[in-house]
Amino acid sequence: MAYTGPNLLPGGIIRNGDRFRTFTESAFTGHVELALSLGSMAGKRFHQGLSSAIALAIECIGEERVTESTVDEMAIGDRQFLARFLGARRLSDEIWISPTCSHCDVRFDLPVRQSLLPVKLAGEEFPTAVFRLSAGMFRCRVPTGKDQMALVATKPSDPRRWLIDRLIEDAPPGYSGADELDGHDIARADAAIEGVSPEVGTVVETTCPSCHNGEQVEVSPYLCLLQGESDLLQQVHEIASTYHWSQREILDLPADRRRRYLTLIDHARGVNA
Ligand SMILES: [Zn+2]
Repeated sequence: MAYTGPNLLPGGIIRNGDRFRTFTESAFTGHVELALSLGSMAGKRFHQGLSSAIALAIECIGEERVTESTVDEMAIGDRQFLARFLGARRLSDEIWISPTCSHCDVRFDLPVRQSLLPVKLAGEEFPTAVFRLSAGMFRCRVPTGKDQMALVATKPSDPRRWLIDRLIEDAPPGYSGADELDGHDIARADAAIEGVSPEVGTVVETTCPSCHNGEQVEVSPYLCLLQGESDLLQQVHEIASTYHWSQREILDLPADRRRRYLTLIDHARGVNA
């Protein structure tokens, strides 16, 4: 089942003071599918890989052509939205996950339709939040892919404080840095930034079929990008063996056409068997 949500980002990109949220997709070829196979990547490389995959898969946001640096500069919530959207294209909208119940320790299967998971739209002020802390008024921007990459590369000892320091665009006179913020300030800044940020739901409420207790299950927005590329390589191998096309030519095919060739190959085998 294909993803059925509208092609509309929960945040969007700002150009000359206007916000653009609609996006159009490029042809979903094998190249896009291969780029979306991020299972072997971790840390900063994963987020870089996500940027290149999105830049390949999404043609335009508003009227603007999407490049890797456009995607780097997008809000984390928008990147997660597209990771889930494209992941559903790569595998399927409905996926099965197998959580373990935290009450009775029994593992159970749960179907999740990704396009039905909640999405929180960015606030009016997006992409910045203005709020008061003990030192006065502050303005922060919402974190982007670039911030996320810097965070996983730097691994600061106090990630929240480190991030807020990076996100501050305007601070009261005399402010010397996030080191002077206390715990309340950090919590308030966090809440204000979160309040305007776009977000995708990552928790599903369900009931354990064994003990009937309520259970919250994590569903990563990256879930469908983490599975390996061996299926795709197997398909390339089968088509190449039959038609003697190059890997490049096979990956150039839109995914549904590639699948039709595989069906033809299967049928031919059935006839010959
Ligand atoms: Zn249970």
